[in-house]
Amino acid sequence: MTEKTMRAMWCEEPQKLEVRQIPIHEVGENDVLIKVAYAAICPWDVRAYSGLSKSVKFPRLLGHEMSGTVAAVGKNVKNLSIGQPVVPDLIVKCGTCKACLTGRPNKCRNVVFMQFGGAFADYVCVPQQNVHVLKPGTSKKAAAFMEPLACVTRGQNMLNLYPGEVELVVGLGPIGLMHMQVARAFGARVIVSDPIPDRLTKALELGADLAVNPAEEDLAEVVDSFTDGWGADAAVITVGSARLVEQLIPIMAPGGRLNIFAGIYPHDTVQIDPNIIHYQELILTGSADSTPIDMNHALDFIQNGQVDTESLISHLLPLEDLGKGFEIVKNREGLKVMIEVNGEPE
Ligand SMILES: [Zn+2]
Ligand SMILES: [Zn+2]
Repeated sequence: MTEKTMRAMWCEEPQKLEVRQIPIHEVGENDVLIKVAYAAICPWDVRAYSGLSKSVKFPRLLGHEMSGTVAAVGKNVKNLSIGQPVVPDLIVKCGTCKACLTGRPNKCRNVVFMQFGGAFADYVCVPQQNVHVLKPGTSKKAAAFMEPLACVTRGQNMLNLYPGEVELVVGLGPIGLMHMQVARAFGARVIVSDPIPDRLTKALELGADLAVNPAEEDLAEVVDSFTDGWGADAAVITVGSARLVEQLIPIMAPGGRLNIFAGIYPHDTVQIDPNIIHYQELILTGSADSTPIDMNHALDFIQNGQVDTESLISHLLPLEDLGKGFEIVKNREGLKVMIEVNGEPE
């Protein structure tokens, strides 16, 4: 490598974004430098950029959903080589805290979240254990979905689906459309709900069994008739709404499992009749982030074609148009906004 600096979408403070040339990360003995091919915009990035997340410190780079190729390796890295297609996990866990040692590294107490190493730049650098290798020929656009699909896979695992059960997926952004596909892969029949007609069409194209527009139909009645009065065995809410939680609890089947998958902002509370939980033996759960195991499962789903992520891309923009991409996500236009940082030779 001869270059010393790289392009980066520098975020000096919330709402302030500019292209800067900054030094390329130094590659430590156990580190891997990765040239970014594609980086997707996550609603988390948009929220952080807005300044509403108090825990997000500036200045920084954003972006944590990406794919790329190995550009350089530290001297202790033996199993990776330059040019290999990879997807890094940009959230570095400590490996030594109670969360890491009890199988919940997604809740690591000492997590290092990207520092200045966000994916909206030409290069990122991560420790070698954070690198997931792609099979040759895997689409890097599709593979850039590893992190959000890992979160989805984790959420679906918590629903303990049996083949033939009925799952209800509420909200059909890219996350909801991935939930639907993973639930299908687990053998469930899936009812989806969203007020945007294009999203319902997309869900049906991708394999949903029944699509409901809650602005036109009563969701409870639809679930009731689809399940012969039994209710939904599982459900996932992918939009942050306390009212939706209240609305779904009475629609659940005996023994039903409900996953609150989205954070709710501004903070809100739900009113629940505990008797429903008790008599119906409902399980109310949530899931957030993902572990390296979930990431492996996600890459399998992408690479064996069981989950179509690439067709969730509605916009492909150059790095310099990141600000425009944030606006698109904020206004809920289209589905996934993908930034072509260096792309890949077709
Ligand atoms: Zn994300
Ligand atoms: Zn830890």
